[in-house]
Amino acid sequence: MSRIVGIDLGTTNSLVAYVDEKTGVPRVIPDRDGQALLPSVVSFVSEGVLVGAVAKRQLVRRPESTVYSVKRLMGRGYEDVKEELCYLPFKVLPCEGIVKILIGSREVTPPEVSAIVLKSLKERAEAHFGESIEKAVITVPAYFNDSQRQATKDAGRIAGLDVVRIVNEPTAASLAYGLQRIRAGVVAVYDLGGGTFDISILRVKDGVFEVLATNGNTHLGGDDFDRAIVMWLLDDIREKHGVYLGRDPEAMQELRLSAEAAKIRLSAEEWTVLTIPFDAFTYHREITRSELERLIARLVDSTLRPCRMALADAGLASADIDEVVLVGGSTRVSLVRRRVQDLFGKAPHSQLNPDEVVALGAAVQAHILAGGITNMLLLDVTPLSLGIETLGGIVSVLIPRNTTIPTNARELFTTSVDGQRVVDMHVVQGEREVAKDCRSLARFELSGIDPMPAGMPKIEVVFLIDANGILQVTATELRTGKAAAIEVKPTYGLSEADVERMVEESFTYAEADVEARLLIEARNEADTVITHVERALGQGSQLVGADERETIVTALETLRGARATNDRVLIRETTTGLNRATEHLAELMMDAALRGALASRRADEIMER
Ligand code: AMP
Repeated sequence: MSRIVGIDLGTTNSLVAYVDEKTGVPRVIPDRDGQALLPSVVSFVSEGVLVGAVAKRQLVRRPESTVYSVKRLMGRGYEDVKEELCYLPFKVLPCEGIVKILIGSREVTPPEVSAIVLKSLKERAEAHFGESIEKAVITVPAYFNDSQRQATKDAGRIAGLDVVRIVNEPTAASLAYGLQRIRAGVVAVYDLGGGTFDISILRVKDGVFEVLATNGNTHLGGDDFDRAIVMWLLDDIREKHGVYLGRDPEAMQELRLSAEAAKIRLSAEEWTVLTIPFDAFTYHREITRSELERLIARLVDSTLRPCRMALADAGLASADIDEVVLVGGSTRVSLVRRRVQDLFGKAPHSQLNPDEVVALGAAVQAHILAGGITNMLLLDVTPLSLGIETLGGIVSVLIPRNTTIPTNARELFTTSVDGQRVVDMHVVQGEREVAKDCRSLARFELSGIDPMPAGMPKIEVVFLIDANGILQVTATELRTGKAAAIEVKPTYGLSEADVERMVEESFTYAEADVEARLLIEARNEADTVITHVERALGQGSQLVGADERETIVTALETLRGARATNDRVLIRETTTGLNRATEHLAELMMDAALRGALASRRADEIMER
């Protein structure tokens, strides 16, 4: 059996995981720097394509050619995503039922961008195992419709991966906690990430997960917590230093990064100090956990309404929930945990890393599929009903929602006009009675029917949903022996040929990209270090002696020289050199900053008394 990895293809971050053969324990695969999370960001630069942390650093400098949150666009048409576009700095255009992203003169589709992320994870897994990886299980939100699932599968194919199963994220999170083993129960999966909030209520029975209800907010998450802190800091800086930094993009970026870092520290500590060096001054501020909680309380509380709505949709009360699972980095915030526990009346599962839990569950599913666990049947259900438009625009449902998959269904239809030779088939997905209110999945014609009186032809329509939740539809005229049959795979605009071309292109770009990425990474790091050292020399050079200052200045000049070359090894070495030369200065500055912060804390305390 070839190896299958589990992939969480996230809006903000993506991960790859596997199950350790010896211990049976799922593990994530880190990159060469030990980082498990790969930011789902792709930057198109003149030298090639960047992905992950190095691409994320381009967000400020090259916003129009750096693509993030592409998951929000996967498998969707322009009308579906119009409201999203105000959040995205890159250009998105409508294109035959799907959208394309315009980068300079190059157009890319969302699956192509996701494929770049997937490819990076594939390579990471290959480096880890020392063998080629060709199969993966990929997770998607429970509310993803057929087109969005299909787009995710296409992304896998473009990346050179056979996507053996698409799994719902809440199902994966439950699998990571082994909840498939409970005989029967109801699980609430609370997923609060960087920019999205999802609540899913699942029923699990004999290893089958059924999505009872989902709800959420597609624009709520830890980024909003950061924004609330930044607003507070802007006010405080204006008060203390008499400047308003809200219109200075670079200062805002510094503030955002510092705010996020402080928020993360406050998940483990009761208080922390923010030290942000600006050109004109260095800002110090202590922030306590309860101050943070005051700033974000309203945001955290706003997740509770969707939870109550999901419970109501599932026809359940919070007391009916047997297990609560936390997913997403923002569930580390203690206020979030307390609120979730209060709502559901029980302690949530939180032993696993909430950033990793979906990928770990995908790995469990992959392990099951690869035959590692043989005594377990694991199934999912269709999230929405599937049917055919019939006379008068009414939907005839063939497969109702929540049907366990894989599944198939057949139904006989006929014609409504005498001598009708062609029947239009319209496949729709949704819970509404009228086809125009449902999502249109595919249209096709069944032609070549022998002329007969209305009602005579027998048209058999077969729906087949495979284990990934992807549908195939076949229509056959049965009465005439020479049955005409057409098979459609609902698509969202990418043809087989498109996908093939993208697969080829991704190979073409791959080799050039690696070298370009390494060079750009080295240059970016050099730039960061140079900026910091320049600032440190401006503010703290009196802390060190003339000799030491001279050494630092020389190391700085050497790095500037190296940065101008294309030699990434030299750039890396001289960056390390400059880092080493400034270690002592950095320590002295940190001490001074802490002393300053403590002094201002004491002053605040005195004021409060
Ligand atoms: P995700 O989208 O699941 O990767 O979650 C990312 C979000 O989690 C970001 O807003 C992070 O700032 C936030 N996050 C990560 N670690 C922590 C932590 N220890 N405490 C609070 N928030 C965190």
